[in-house]
Amino acid sequence: MKKTFLGILASCAVLFASCAYESDRKPCSVSFFAMDTYMTVTAYGKNAESALNDVSEKIIALEKMWSATDENSEVYAINNSGGKTVPVSKETEALIEYALEISEATDGALNITLYPVLKAWGFTTGEYRVPSDDEIAALLENTGCEKVRLDSGSVTIPEGMQLDLGAVGKGYAGDIAVSILKERGVNSALLDLGGNIQAIGSKPDGTPWRVGLRNPFDGGSLAMLEVSDCAVITSGGYERYFTDENGSTYCHILDPENGRPAESGLASATIIGSKGRLCDGLSTAVFVMGQEKAEQFWRGYGGFEMVLVTKGGEVYITEGIEESFTLNGEYPDTRVNVIR
Ligand code: ADP
Ligand code: MG
Repeated sequence: MKKTFLGILASCAVLFASCAYESDRKPCSVSFFAMDTYMTVTAYGKNAESALNDVSEKIIALEKMWSATDENSEVYAINNSGGKTVPVSKETEALIEYALEISEATDGALNITLYPVLKAWGFTTGEYRVPSDDEIAALLENTGCEKVRLDSGSVTIPEGMQLDLGAVGKGYAGDIAVSILKERGVNSALLDLGGNIQAIGSKPDGTPWRVGLRNPFDGGSLAMLEVSDCAVITSGGYERYFTDENGSTYCHILDPENGRPAESGLASATIIGSKGRLCDGLSTAVFVMGQEKAEQFWRGYGGFEMVLVTKGGEVYITEGIEESFTLNGEYPDTRVNVIR
């Protein structure tokens, strides 16, 4: 699996280097706000401009279906169905189906049924608080991906359960955007969907895209990764969190086991792979798992590479990206361990 991924990197670099001479090297960009974040998509080639308009329209349409707060969304309808079956679009069905698959593969580390628990912590509104153990325990009763019933064109969840697709939606939207661009003949593009990076091909000159990885401690650039035709998606405790009066911090990624902010010893988890949905789902799940479990998972599941930064400041990278990963020279003391 790991070799295949490296193979993809290598072959694409060659493939697109030869295409580069035919394509227009002038970039065309679109920026918009969707899914709670700024998104910028840059594409090259003669169809880029009209394809980019379609991409922004599509992502905004997907947000309208997947937002947990928009009263007209499909997720809102599911969450307020009182246990009744709700018809959904094919995209929503596919996203939920995929999320359930990753939930199972990660032994429940990814869990799309935590919305009521996230609400209790204030992560959905910004009115943060630390719920009592009893309150969390009661809310956890109504969670569990195995209780989500997915039929062709409809979803049913038990009364009291609510879904939150925030951990996978952006990655899935990125994959849909990539297919739109590819269908329109774009073979060089970079999608930055609020820090979720997805690349089509290589840069127009045939060299790989250079993606900066953020230092979770100071917001600077920790490292650079050279990639072609793949997604690079990070989950971090620094993205959304709050601090209580005792100075304890609480991050927006919850451990589904106990309904509390994940304390796995990781400051950030970056997943590199061919699909945005896989990388997005796994970045959240791996953040919950922590370094040791993540290593085991990588060996067993395969098909992706990762960069883990521990709270102690150590960096772990998987062997498939050893050649394409460069630590920023400003951090000479940072230890980079290679997972093999
Ligand atoms: P972001 O979308 O902020 O870049 P993630 O992809 O890691 O980061 O998604 C985090 C979001 O997923 C949270 O804001 C929350 O809505 C939801 N969430 C939190 N914990 C979990 C979990 N264990 N499984 C699935 N979704 C989660
Ligand atoms: Mg995610």
